[in-house]
Amino acid sequence: MSSVTKADPVAEVRAWLDGNWDPDLTVAEWWELLGLAGWAAPTLPEDAYGKGLSRSDAVAVAKAITDFGALGAPAGLGLLLAAPTIAMHGDRQQIDRFVGDIVTGRQAWCQLFSEPGAGSDLAGLTTRAERDGDEWIVNGQKVWTSLGHAADMGMLLARTAPDAPKHQGISWMAIDMHQPGVEIRPLIEMTGHAMFNEVFLTDARVPHDAVIGDVNSGWAAANTTLQNERAGLGAGGSGGGVAVTPGTVAGNLDKRAGDFVARADAASQRARPGNRPRGNFLTGFATANGSISDPTIRQDLVRLHILNELGRLNGMRAKAMRAKGDDIAGMGNISKLMMSDVVRLSRDVGLRILGASGTLHAYTTEQRAALDAATGNPMLAMVTGQALYAQAPPIYGGTDQIQKNILGERALGLPREPGPDRNTPFSELPKNS
Ligand SMILES: Cc1cc2nc3c(=O)[nH]c(=O)nc-3n(C[C@H](O)[C@H](O)[C@H](O)COP(=O)(O)OP(=O)(O)OC[C@H]3O[C@@H](n4cnc5c(N)ncnc54)[C@H](O)[C@@H]3O)c2cc1C
Repeated sequence: MSSVTKADPVAEVRAWLDGNWDPDLTVAEWWELLGLAGWAAPTLPEDAYGKGLSRSDAVAVAKAITDFGALGAPAGLGLLLAAPTIAMHGDRQQIDRFVGDIVTGRQAWCQLFSEPGAGSDLAGLTTRAERDGDEWIVNGQKVWTSLGHAADMGMLLARTAPDAPKHQGISWMAIDMHQPGVEIRPLIEMTGHAMFNEVFLTDARVPHDAVIGDVNSGWAAANTTLQNERAGLGAGGSGGGVAVTPGTVAGNLDKRAGDFVARADAASQRARPGNRPRGNFLTGFATANGSISDPTIRQDLVRLHILNELGRLNGMRAKAMRAKGDDIAGMGNISKLMMSDVVRLSRDVGLRILGASGTLHAYTTEQRAALDAATGNPMLAMVTGQALYAQAPPIYGGTDQIQKNILGERALGLPREPGPDRNTPFSELPKNS
């Protein structure tokens, strides 16, 4: 067994895996062990099912779990967003009730923040919650709710004091998605998938003790959620393992944990065709189909490599600063903007490498099989899928323009954007202002 020190979380998790990983456990049994030991969400505090690790150490731990050949933590927004928000703003009873079920994968969560009229201007949300005894009654509409159809619980932002200024009348609530007042309608994306949904709330109910933080103080909790979203998007924290959806709806809990790991191994073998490409897989493609001789494609592949390297080095700089107890202002926003650049450039150069065949995209499993057979290239659908999805990262978690606004105001100290909203009651503001 490896020696274990508090300062070496990777050695610690390896030693723990030696004694605990068993591929014959069900996913539920395995996540119960992993979550209660603090390894599912090690950035959480030790008294909230975590280990109090830094984000970079947590990424190293996730990678160590994958490298060991064990199934990693439950995927999704519960672990990424709800757990750290509840750990910071919830009380002891709420932490035990909600965070315990998240780290053990028993429940899946979705994020009910955005509305048709409130995305970038999130504090302009109009979904209402009105107090009725020990409960809140919720009415309104949410949109872009990723994996809402697979969620047991939702992170709900609702307006609880319409006459207070915009940011001061919002509450953060944990809402049960399995109730008659919650209607979930899928939205089909241009990729062909239906990852997100519209959610209609009609007299839906939330117990008062599921309000996280104080009533009308939800903006502070929402900011914790959003900070974790941006940090998570920049960090790429899954450790490279297979993402398994938790909760009661996805149907994974009773399956054998080891089967998911075997599937991930097979997928990574498929991603390495006989002539294993050097560099990223687009370079391999370009080499295989001869387009690597096009100087403009070569230049873009080098640009892509430089962007990826800059992202890696920025991550190391941020880690070194944090180790000294310091920070780099706006680094999370910069990382998110760089990710947007990477996906856009990957889309453009990927489609140029594919040439005319890049116009072929499979929307269903049957179409995918037919396309794979016709082109003899099972990776083509991956490039077109990524190209179609490339519009999403510059939007979700705060658009590129919003990241630049934040950098301008918080990192460069530029004046705030003009607006009437700071002290005016929300009910008196013109719509969408
Ligand atoms: C793949 C994906 C998954 C998502 N998942 C979720 C989810 O699970 N839960 C959830 O709640 N939301 C989710 N969202 C929604 C996402 O947070 C919003 O789309 C995003 O905040 C932008 O809001 P909007 O779409 O209303 O655009 P708008 O806010 O209407 O923006 C439209 C355009 O105007 C620009 N703009 C707006 N305000 C300013 C300004 N002040 N200065 C400069 N430019 C500005 C924007 O940059 C954008 O280009 C998801 C989105 C995507 C794409």
